[in-house]
Amino acid sequence: MTLDIIAIDGPAGSGKSTVAHALAERLGWRVLDTGAMYRAVTVEVLRHGLDPHDEAAVADVAHAAVIATRPRVSINGRDVHDEIRTDAVNVGVSAVAANPAVRAAMVERQRALADAEPGGLVVEGRDITTVVFPDARVKIYLTATLDERARRRADEGHESVARRDHADASRQASPLRRSHDATIVDTTGRSVEQVVEEIVQCLKNTTSS
Ligand code: C5P
Repeated sequence: MTLDIIAIDGPAGSGKSTVAHALAERLGWRVLDTGAMYRAVTVEVLRHGLDPHDEAAVADVAHAAVIATRPRVSINGRDVHDEIRTDAVNVGVSAVAANPAVRAAMVERQRALADAEPGGLVVEGRDITTVVFPDARVKIYLTATLDERARRRADEGHESVARRDHADASRQASPLRRSHDATIVDTTGRSVEQVVEEIVQCLKNTTSS
């Protein structure tokens, strides 16, 4: 398993994806976008006309799913790269991600992907520092004000971002929360370069200690 993992958690629009990609480019590492996996399962659930709240049916879909996130997001061989960003998926994904059986299936895949990764990996999501890779070399909790996060997710809308945040933080199964040993990085009003630099410094500190 790759020992070089930078784990990044945070609410919607906190900058996880942008920062993860810029960081990976700077370090020559790869990115695992775990939100894309929950979104892909949601696309498949909706395509089969299933109710995202139907726990047993949704768990079956998740267990059977073959998911790729690179170079494009696909599920069971079908490209869903653009479809995962639709309003219907923004609405349905919270229920899918709150399903413990779905989470177990996704966490298993995420660990297997990291196992197979020859180099360093930046992993971003909601439970990466707390559940998936609690022993990651660097653990970051990214945050920003709700106004700023909603501005960044203008296509999704303020209300939907706030609703997803509430659902993600209040669910029973692996809710979004800050790991006690994660470094909090507030991205409000800061450039991507500044944030990346701060995280690279965290990585350097692990090397020298
Ligand atoms: O990161 P993104 O906004 O694409 O994630 C979509 C949804 O997937 C989140 O709102 C959350 O419900 C779920 N998610 C999760 N655990 C992760 C990543 C995403 O529950 N590790």
